Amino acid sequence: MTLALGCIADDYTGASDLANTLAKQGLRTVQTIGIPSADLPLPEVDAIVISLKIRSVAASDAVERAPAAHDWFRARGAAHVMYKICSTFDSTDAGNIGPVLDALRADALETSVLVTPAFPETDRTVYKGNLFVGAVPLNESSLRDHPLNPMRDANLVRVLARQSTGAVGLVELATVAQGADAIRTRLEQLSACGTGAAIADAVFETDLEAIGAAALTQRLSVGASGLGLGLARALIAAGTARRQQRVTLREHPIGGPAACLAGSCSRATLAQIARAEQSMPVLRLDPEKLVSGSAEAQRALDWAAGRLAEGPVLIASSAPTEVVSALQVRYGRDPAGHAIEQSLATIAEGLIALGVRRLVVAGGETSGAVVDRLAIPAFETGPEIAPGVPVLRTLGSPHGEMALALKSGNFGGEGFFADALAIIA
Ligand code: ADP
Repeated sequence: MTLALGCIADDYTGASDLANTLAKQGLRTVQTIGIPSADLPLPEVDAIVISLKIRSVAASDAVERAPAAHDWFRARGAAHVMYKICSTFDSTDAGNIGPVLDALRADALETSVLVTPAFPETDRTVYKGNLFVGAVPLNESSLRDHPLNPMRDANLVRVLARQSTGAVGLVELATVAQGADAIRTRLEQLSACGTGAAIADAVFETDLEAIGAAALTQRLSVGASGLGLGLARALIAAGTARRQQRVTLREHPIGGPAACLAGSCSRATLAQIARAEQSMPVLRLDPEKLVSGSAEAQRALDWAAGRLAEGPVLIASSAPTEVVSALQVRYGRDPAGHAIEQSLATIAEGLIALGVRRLVVAGGETSGAVVDRLAIPAFETGPEIAPGVPVLRTLGSPHGEMALALKSGNFGGEGFFADALAIIA
């Protein structure tokens, strides 16, 4: 199999978002969970997105796992590898974007790589190196209070420089607007001055097309789904990949009971849960009890067991910032987050045992914990529910065929849960 594009995604919802973008652009795309095992039958595709869970783990773990995925792609002759990060640059001063970038750049034998989290479709733009979420700089957006990666600086040149061993430069919008050759020339200049990574400004999709075309002349690039869009369009323009009609999964409904699980505490998810309360039974879990034992997960399953025959249900640990902060003070940020993720994964496992085959999960880390627990090896990318969120149909799942939607916290409109359930037939 000749692979036009290999992608290493730092979390599972980010991977679905990227797979969705690539599929929308016409690339035949598969998302795998972790590095595919030798016996996983993969269809002939243009792009493979390997989903890792390295966004919020120790940097030392992340720099082991990402190069292993890179090796897998190189062994399959992938012409270009993209390291997919969040469009809100979720990271801390300890990493993991900088350390992973450094490790992959060394592996790819590149001196300097292009980096852009811009994705205009979801209102993420980069100007003068500053990331904007909608109309406000990153540090004034709700990402300021993210439970795991609070983002308090919008200047990505500074943010990345604090995480990376190499110097970080900037390819300004005026250069990007001149096209791929100008970007390449600027990158060469920066590289000659010892710069290891360059943040590329991007405000419009045409900027991403130029960045994508420039990046394809290298072995590695770093960005969010917007960069995927640029790379996909550049691959099609270069004739390396042919534009395909997107496969619709509607013709083969999965059916049976459906459920939603939410562990994201983003403003968007909190509003979506409030809206879901108007159309389906919603159970709000007690976060304190979730952290301290297994009884709360069992309570959720008993609650769901009596309701699933009548229609979909939603189970949520999500809580507003004050509640999240209080729990984190008591148990520590990471232990609290991971304990809740594991409890939600236990609930997901129990829901599958109750017959659920259609599952909607809100939260990047939460989705990672759920998909790992269900041991799903790969997904085909189906129709789009909301920007960045496709229907995913399992490949090689031990539970038989299932359809899932994995939503990054901030994604989707207020009616997301009902929208998702309507599409996952
Ligand atoms: P997002 O996509 O919004 O970033 P994630 O699932 O990646 O969502 O991250 C949310 C984190 O918050 C997870 O680690 C989750 O376990 C944790 N969490 C969920 N509910 C609570 C809560 N009530 N209190 C504290 N942390 C919580």
